[in-house]
Amino acid sequence: MAARIIRKIVPTGRAGAAQYSTGVRKVTLIPGHGIGPEITVAVQKIFEAAKVPIEWDEVDVTAVRGPDGKFGIPQKAIDSVNANKIGLKGPLMTPVGKGYRSLNLALRKEFDLYANVRPCKSLEGVKTLYDNVDVVTIRENTEGEYSGIEHEIVDGVVQSIKLITEEASSRVAEFAFQFARDNKRKKVTAVHKANIMRMSDGLFLRCCRQLANKYPNIKFEERYLDTVCLNMVQDPSKFDVLVMPNLYGDIMSDMCSGLIGGLGLTPSGNIGKNGALFESVHGTAPDIAGKDMANPTALLLSSIMMLRHLEMHEHADRIQNACYQVLKEGKSLTGDLGGTGKCSEYTNAIISKL
Ligand code: NAD
Repeated sequence: MAARIIRKIVPTGRAGAAQYSTGVRKVTLIPGHGIGPEITVAVQKIFEAAKVPIEWDEVDVTAVRGPDGKFGIPQKAIDSVNANKIGLKGPLMTPVGKGYRSLNLALRKEFDLYANVRPCKSLEGVKTLYDNVDVVTIRENTEGEYSGIEHEIVDGVVQSIKLITEEASSRVAEFAFQFARDNKRKKVTAVHKANIMRMSDGLFLRCCRQLANKYPNIKFEERYLDTVCLNMVQDPSKFDVLVMPNLYGDIMSDMCSGLIGGLGLTPSGNIGKNGALFESVHGTAPDIAGKDMANPTALLLSSIMMLRHLEMHEHADRIQNACYQVLKEGKSLTGDLGGTGKCSEYTNAIISKL
């Protein structure tokens, strides 16, 4: 299948579009937890072998308790992202229930990374139900059910607020249309449940419609979330770029990930006005951490998105071709893809194709 390459992560002329100096680029590196350090080393080795002119500024983001007694991101990590404006990040562990808030959410809030871009494309050599998946979900990344506004009204009754604003909805909708235009995509689908959440999803949808009027050359459609789920698993070729509120995007993009072979293969970028953080979609995979079993492809493809954001397309193409070749040949694949290869063997196989 002829695959379309996403060349422009941040639409032209937008705040946050790549405006980096030439020469060696400094990039914040957050290895993260669980399998994070293993897959980060894999990416670093491949970059080194490919002679990518990048200097890593490695920071730890294990939560620290601030002066207010609350846990948060260490200042050193904040300073690094503020200085470099670009980062590559491994997964971070979030305790369930009580404890500190997700550091992923904290990072997105801190740098106002408002658009989460998750491309899902069938990869030759990876056996899946379909070989023609080529969708990009664009998820609003700052509000919705992830606003963190939760409280117990009385014992046994808890309320979580879904916050939708015109400003956040319009900017992510605009991002989606510009992304579609810049990457020569034909259609944007707004995914919603405005039939039930008339006010919140209704506002999101109105913002999408308004933006659609500004992009007459891109087809616009609005579809219910449940219908999109059904149609996506029946015929993913019906979809192109999808834009949706936060929670829907989180779930939908994992589903799309399943259609192309799983979480080990799916990259993402969190884009804001003042910076961008690229990361794999998967979590810390505690069941396989430290065993050299993790598939580093998702983080590698995220780092390739990062290179494109930095306009380093030649390096991106070279590493991407090497990775695709190894997947196509089907040797040295990791366990999640049905192989018996180790993370390190797979990494070396990619390096041998550079
Ligand atoms: P997970 O993605 O870590 O794991 C789900 C399953 O997929 C596991 O069986 C795991 O072994 C497998 N898997 C995931 N990535 C893989 C890879 N690269 N190679 C091979 N197999 C892989 O999801 P989880 O178990 O629900 O979450 C574990 C922790 O990760 C939690 O603390 C969660 O909060 C955190 N998490 C972090 C992020 C992030 O930092 N962006 C995202 C999701 C989950």
